[in-house]
Amino acid sequence: MATPFIISTPKRSKRKKKGIHKSKKTYVYGLVNQGNNVCFLNAVLQALAALHNLRIYLGRKATSRDAQDEERPMTIALHETLEKLNEPLATRDSFVPNRIVWALQANARRLINRQQQDAHELFQLLSESLGLEDEVSRRPKSLLDIDTIRFLTGNNKARLICDRNPLVGLTACRISCMKCKYCGPIRHSTFDNISIPLPKQQVVTLENLLRTYSEIEFIDEYNCPQCSLFETLAVVEKELIDRKDDPNKEYLRKLNKDKQIIKTALVTDVDKEIDSELEVTKLARVNFLASKQTMFAKLPKVFALHFSRSIYLQNGMTLKNPCSVLFPEKIDLTQYTTTGYLATMPSEPLSSPSSSLSSPLLSPMLAGIEGARPDEVHYRLKAIIAHIGDHKLGHFVTYRRREGLDCWWRLSDENIEEVKLSKVLEQEAYMLFYEKDHI
Ligand SMILES: [Zn+2]
Repeated sequence: MATPFIISTPKRSKRKKKGIHKSKKTYVYGLVNQGNNVCFLNAVLQALAALHNLRIYLGRKATSRDAQDEERPMTIALHETLEKLNEPLATRDSFVPNRIVWALQANARRLINRQQQDAHELFQLLSESLGLEDEVSRRPKSLLDIDTIRFLTGNNKARLICDRNPLVGLTACRISCMKCKYCGPIRHSTFDNISIPLPKQQVVTLENLLRTYSEIEFIDEYNCPQCSLFETLAVVEKELIDRKDDPNKEYLRKLNKDKQIIKTALVTDVDKEIDSELEVTKLARVNFLASKQTMFAKLPKVFALHFSRSIYLQNGMTLKNPCSVLFPEKIDLTQYTTTGYLATMPSEPLSSPSSSLSSPLLSPMLAGIEGARPDEVHYRLKAIIAHIGDHKLGHFVTYRRREGLDCWWRLSDENIEEVKLSKVLEQEAYMLFYEKDHI
């Protein structure tokens, strides 16, 4: 959503009057909206400051000896900024998050400006920067480097698990042809947040959105490789019958050779690219109805969600979808997560606890990915970013849980006020940040 923003000017006299209960009289830093156009940056930083696992990860990464400081400007800037945002203060105060702006400019060569005003885009940019810096730190400096040798020869599994970015998870996606039941290779993709378009209705629950995201859907025009091979084989076999008396024996020899290549592909590897091997035959491409399902194969420690609220009109205009998302404080992702066994039949769920061990049609297709354990699927809400206003004129604010406490801050640039959970759950969410609940 590219929108100019209303800037909320801090009303110092009002804030002082409000006050906070004596026993909870500690504050955290607000963030100055310098240039009056970076409320989206402030909102993202305040939300990330609520994420315990991210802070641990950044602390470890920022102080490790795997990389030079100049190779990880975003990791260090984010670590320092998020720690500062968690410092307890006796009085209200705020600062300008300059280190993040400089790191973005140095690392991603991107400027924070009015063209880039979306909290979700910025979140992705920060996450991408962290990923790139992590890649650099994992690159072997030299095979003679003692740390590299230790890493390559020793048991580094524990280190890999500790170093895993808590925002990153893995999805499994299966597409199956409804005609021939062919199931393509199950594709795995990493994600640092799940972006869900909102329906054009007044209210929807988060549970419904996640169910829609992970349930079987149907694709009309799926180019099925197996059906295409069968179709091509039928054409070749018909031509061989029709031209059995053809004097051009060389052509018939080539046609027979093509037939053999297609038959071999059908038995050994349906997905193999055989176009270039066929001498006189053109591979048919036929489309049929297919089922598609995406589930979580590896859940991240921090589960971030984005709700796409843009409605694109035919006249080129964009409107904001005002759909209210009802989201709970705690979520259980069991039903959207694979159990480690994936079904290959198009009409069956990709993975379900009830069928995974009994059906002979299932196979352990996820080597090394065991699926989630029961204690790893429970999450608790840690922060939300809300968007106030319409598509053209709006403002981002963050609601963030206070570390270790059951109360919340509402942070709008420099303005901070304490709110109850019930107030947080009423907000028009743009992004939600859940964190694993077993810590
Ligand atoms: Zn097919």
